[in-house]
Amino acid sequence: MSCLPTRKASFIGGAKYRRKTYGSNHPLAIPRVSLTHELIQTYGALSDAEFMDARKAADFELEWFHTPDYVSAFKRAEALGRVSNPVRQRHKLGTLENPYFEQFFTVPATATGASIQAAEVVIGGRIGFNPAGGMHHARPDQALGFCYFNDPVLGIMRLRREGWRVLYVDIDAHHGDGVEAAFIDDPDVFTLSLHMDTGYAYPFTGGRLEDAGTPQSGHTCLNVPLPKDTHDAEYQLLFNAVWQPLLAKFRPDAVVLQAGTDMIFADPLGKLGLSTQCFLRTAQTILDTSPTHADGTPRLLVTGGGGYHPLVLARAWTGLWALLSGRELPDALPAAGAELLRSVGWDMDEDEAHFAQLFISRLDQIETHDVRTEIHRLIDQIPQHPYFRKP
Ligand SMILES: [Zn+2]
Repeated sequence: MSCLPTRKASFIGGAKYRRKTYGSNHPLAIPRVSLTHELIQTYGALSDAEFMDARKAADFELEWFHTPDYVSAFKRAEALGRVSNPVRQRHKLGTLENPYFEQFFTVPATATGASIQAAEVVIGGRIGFNPAGGMHHARPDQALGFCYFNDPVLGIMRLRREGWRVLYVDIDAHHGDGVEAAFIDDPDVFTLSLHMDTGYAYPFTGGRLEDAGTPQSGHTCLNVPLPKDTHDAEYQLLFNAVWQPLLAKFRPDAVVLQAGTDMIFADPLGKLGLSTQCFLRTAQTILDTSPTHADGTPRLLVTGGGGYHPLVLARAWTGLWALLSGRELPDALPAAGAELLRSVGWDMDEDEAHFAQLFISRLDQIETHDVRTEIHRLIDQIPQHPYFRKP
């Protein structure tokens, strides 16, 4: 089976990700990029010309954002094969959250190089998709929340070097705190994050609607905290209330989308009630409204992000790649795709009603619900955000 692209897009992947990373007892110790790549191939939906091998970021590139101390201590730990106590304490490397594993510098440095590459792909006139990226929590001097290097920050910095104004939109279930912090004083980067309210979810601080950036930047930061079990109709209303007014007012030169799949209901760490269709509809809206090159190709850089259910993740990113490259895929999984997903041996939610559907279709069966008053209240507050209030 094969189908042809109708849009210029590059998928940046590589053999590096086939290794077992994050050890064996970690939410990220699951196949992600390689499984996505293989599921896309069962649909015949990726040509050789669209595939790019990820390159490792150079130290000087990592140091656009990260401290030289962090980069060198991290590199040394990989070479030594262990993390010393002072390095563990200062840089939060080799902890339960951000564990040591073989090549634990090289693998994230490659995922980060791929986001810089993706930015160069976008500058060159194509859409860039780096599913290994989206590590939005990492700080200049520390690993945080499973994230070692902040590749979205570095991808955005590469676009900024062209003088472009960048709108970053983060649909991961968690607050994009590291990216927000990196550009909090930059009036030419807007960070928008929709995420589980930090009152009940990681990182348990920030990310409230009131956290609206600084006066120096002109409040170029918008957070939409979502209540538990937010469902498709609610998400769509919230997203629409923010997206069009923001695009019209900020007028970016490029959009960077962090597309974590932990926003989808079946994710073991997510607590939202959203379907794969909602994930894809949101991506479609972003794709359709992004600024474009002269030939109409969206100036859009897409990274992966969180996502701890390998089957849900591979289905969602396969659909995402189809959108980006302009392909129509059948909803039904090809027999080889269903077999591929079964071969993962994932059984965490095998007793749940949704499990069988994971091997039949790349979409979910969902019920509809009424929009709750707390969502209407949130929508009513959005025009009061200081960015929208300023002339
Ligand atoms: Zn997340």
